[in-house]
Amino acid sequence: MSWWGWASIGVVAVLLGGVPLRGQPVQAVQEAIVADAQADTSGHQFLTRLCDDFGGRLTGSPANRGALERVLAELKALGVEARLEKFRMPGWVRERDEVMLIAPLRRPLRVAALSYTQPQAKFEAEVVDIGQGRDEDFAKLNATGKVGLLAPNTTVPRGQYENAAVKHGMRGILFINRVAGGQLLARTGSFTGEPLRIPVFSLTQEEGNWMLRLLKRGEIVRVSMEAGSHCEEIETANIVATFPGRTADRIVVGAHFDSWDLGQGAMDNGVGIAQLYLLARLLHAHAPQNLRTVELVWFNGEEQGLWGSRFHAAALRGQPVAAVINLDMVGFPLSVNALGYDDLVPVLERFNASLGAHPLKQGVGNINWFGSDHTSFQLEGIRAVTYGGFIEPDAVRYYHDFGDTIDKVDPRLIPESAALIAALTYRLANEPGLATTRLPPAEVEALFRKFDLENRLKGVGLWPFADSPASPPKP
Ligand SMILES: [Zn+2]
Repeated sequence: MSWWGWASIGVVAVLLGGVPLRGQPVQAVQEAIVADAQADTSGHQFLTRLCDDFGGRLTGSPANRGALERVLAELKALGVEARLEKFRMPGWVRERDEVMLIAPLRRPLRVAALSYTQPQAKFEAEVVDIGQGRDEDFAKLNATGKVGLLAPNTTVPRGQYENAAVKHGMRGILFINRVAGGQLLARTGSFTGEPLRIPVFSLTQEEGNWMLRLLKRGEIVRVSMEAGSHCEEIETANIVATFPGRTADRIVVGAHFDSWDLGQGAMDNGVGIAQLYLLARLLHAHAPQNLRTVELVWFNGEEQGLWGSRFHAAALRGQPVAAVINLDMVGFPLSVNALGYDDLVPVLERFNASLGAHPLKQGVGNINWFGSDHTSFQLEGIRAVTYGGFIEPDAVRYYHDFGDTIDKVDPRLIPESAALIAALTYRLANEPGLATTRLPPAEVEALFRKFDLENRLKGVGLWPFADSPASPPKP
């Protein structure tokens, strides 16, 4: 039967109300979901309103709370059962922060404090080049009482810049951006949520290089620095929507809901919010009940330290979870990644084969990576999957900055990507024989070591295992 033939069966099934119909092939429903998604512009419209009505969704901010309520209301309007999953985390509030160049000339610098920077009374200090911020870089200079210019290509793990600088008696850090064009890079200064002991600012590449050139020719460079931003414990929430299956086994599909505050968080990760919204619509219409329970989760607090996914992963202890699909800035789908879980590779290969004439161009990958919410579940022994996708470099370059706005999002992106995300979700929700047993800690440890992620996890305080490969992991 043709594509359109199967698609029309899907439509009939929707009209009959109880989908999937007994005996209706999974393939037919999947193809109907794909066709429906590709024609559905509601996800893009939903994201446009969310971005323009609230702006960036920094966790704990009024914008974040307003946007959470909006998403919850829109899910309820679809008839989807959704709830807030409240949790507490170390929050951070951006206030007026200021860095001025005062010698050899006066000029306000374009900066953004990294999160968990604390209030700091105004002080003046000399600026020195601390290179990559490694011990050998500090050995070459007297850094005490000064402000350090940190190179964009630093190999010091995230969360460790400040430690190194404090150890050498510095008063502040200006972290030069790796992207040119006057851009800043908002990001967390402390994965553990510990308030920073000295202020750390993102600085534009152009102003950073300007100061480096002055230092190179022996000029004294001085700045004044002050910070009003502050840390406070907050209560926030994830949104959880559940589609009960015929078994308690689960497929979790998650995307982080929060963003940085400078822009609108459209690409990072409004796109994921909208993909999950469209997925909820599609599951509600085509597949209200599957073999497995499908749980959609909009995670809060990702940018500041994966707080929402860590909370949700802990709440799932003791539950049978077959896989987590994490969506963080997924563009036009090119590949699906088994993240090192070899037993998922054949499952994903079968999924790719089910796409028929339009398989994923890059097929199935199998490489673990760190930097988003899937890690929280992996550390609990749960298998996870991510999608690889294409986004125009000119659309993605603005992430974490003022330019991450809805006008960068191609209106075809949400329908095209949600179609394949929904197809994979539906396939995994109905694929027989997926294991839900948790990986034992020794195997989890081996998975992160195999992909050389140990130091990155240690740098952000997420490494729960002992240091030596020979010793058993901590309980
Ligand atoms: Zn993100």
